Amino acid sequence: MTVKHGREFLSIPGPTTVPDEVLRAMHRPATDIYTGALPKTTDSCLADLKKVFGTKEQTYIYISNGHGAWEAALTNVLSRGDKVLVLPSGRFATRWGEMARELGTETEALPWDWRRAVDPAAVEARLRQDTSGEIKVILVVQVDTASGVVNDIPAIRAAMDVSGHEALLFVDTIASLGTMPFKMDAWGVDVAVTGSQKGLMMPPGLSFVATSKKAEQAHQSANLRTRYWDWTARQGELHYDKYCGTPPVHQLFGLRAALDLILEEGLDNVIRRHQLLADAARSTVEAWSEGGAIECNILDPQQRANSVTVVLLGGGHHPSKLLEYCQQRCGVVLGIGIGGLDDTAFRIAHMGHINAPMLLGSLSVIEMGFVALGIPHGQGGVTAAIQQLGQSVTAS
Ligand SMILES: *Cc1c(COP(=O)(O)O)cnc(C)c1O
Repeated sequence: MTVKHGREFLSIPGPTTVPDEVLRAMHRPATDIYTGALPKTTDSCLADLKKVFGTKEQTYIYISNGHGAWEAALTNVLSRGDKVLVLPSGRFATRWGEMARELGTETEALPWDWRRAVDPAAVEARLRQDTSGEIKVILVVQVDTASGVVNDIPAIRAAMDVSGHEALLFVDTIASLGTMPFKMDAWGVDVAVTGSQKGLMMPPGLSFVATSKKAEQAHQSANLRTRYWDWTARQGELHYDKYCGTPPVHQLFGLRAALDLILEEGLDNVIRRHQLLADAARSTVEAWSEGGAIECNILDPQQRANSVTVVLLGGGHHPSKLLEYCQQRCGVVLGIGIGGLDDTAFRIAHMGHINAPMLLGSLSVIEMGFVALGIPHGQGGVTAAIQQLGQSVTAS
C-alpha cells in the first residue's frame, strides 16, 4: 500500500523545488542574444545578485554548477605554487581544496571534525605562524550540506584581521545564499561563490561569483587564468563575452523570475522564513531524540544551518530504509548522508521555495517512517514543530 500519489515533495539539499513562476519564465522560444530583452536581463540579474550577495562590487554569471564557480574563483586569483589554506567542516571545503591542489597550488587543511564549525581561534593561530605570508587564499564553506554546519564567517574574518595576515577570504555560499544572512562587503569576503539550484530556487546549471576589489587586483597577476572563466574577458561590453559564448537564454529568464520572487518577498523575510522553518525542524529532531536513536549531527545548536538539518540515525537502523519508505510509500524525497555519513545520517533540506506545509509534511512522513520501521523515537516530534511555528508565526 502507498499514499504517495499527489505532488512529490523534494526535500534534498539541492536541487530544490523550482517555483512555477520560474518554470513558466523559462518556457518560451529562444530569443536574440545580442539585442532586446536578454542583454537587459543579464544586466538586471548581475545588479540584483549584488543585493543578494551584499556587495557593491563585481558579480559574474557562469553556465556551470557550483564546482564551476569553485574553479572560476581559484583560477582567477591564484598562481601555480601558491599556498591555499582550507578550513574543512564537512565535505565541500575539502573538495574545493582538492580542486585547488589539482590546479597546481599547494594546499593545507586545518584539523576538523564532522560535528563542529570551524574554530576561528585555530585560524588565527595558523595565520600567526605564517610570518612570511605564504598563504594566499583561505577556503571556507558557509553552510556545509554534508554536516549541516554553519560557519561564523564574520568571526573567521575577525580572526584573519587580528592576525594581521593578508590572505584573501573565499566563501562557498552555495547552500546558504538566500537562506541565511550573508554580507559580502560588510564581512570582508573577497570571493563568494554560489549555485542556482539551492536557495536561489533555480534549476541546476548556473553559478554566480562575487568579487572584492582586492580579489580583482590579485586577478591581474594570477597565472592560473584560463579563457573560459576569466573575469577580465567577461567584463567586456559585448553581451556574448559576458558568458564567453552563447548566453544561457532560458535560465536567464528563469533567474530573473527567481530574483523577483526573492526581492518581492524581501531578502530579510526570506531569511526569516528559513530561520522559522529551521527552528521548527530542530524542535522536531530534539523531541525525536528522546528515543535514543536519533540526534542532530551538529552538537552546538548555534552552529546548525538554517537550510538543512543533518540527522544521525543509530541503534542499528539504516537511513536508506527510512528514505526508501518516505519516497516509495509517501512521496517525500529526503537526502541521504554523504561524505563520512553515508550509512549513519539522513538530511532534511529546508531551503529555497519552501513553506510550512512542505516542511511539516516532510517531518510528518519521517515520523510515519519511524512508526512503520519500528525506529525508536521520542513522541511529539511534529507537534513540537507545530507549537514552535504557531507561536512564532502570529495572526497579526
Ligand atoms: C551543493 C554544494 C556544492 C556543489 O555544488 P554543485 O552545483 O553540485 O557543483 C558545493 N558546496 C556546497 C556547500 C554545496 O551545498
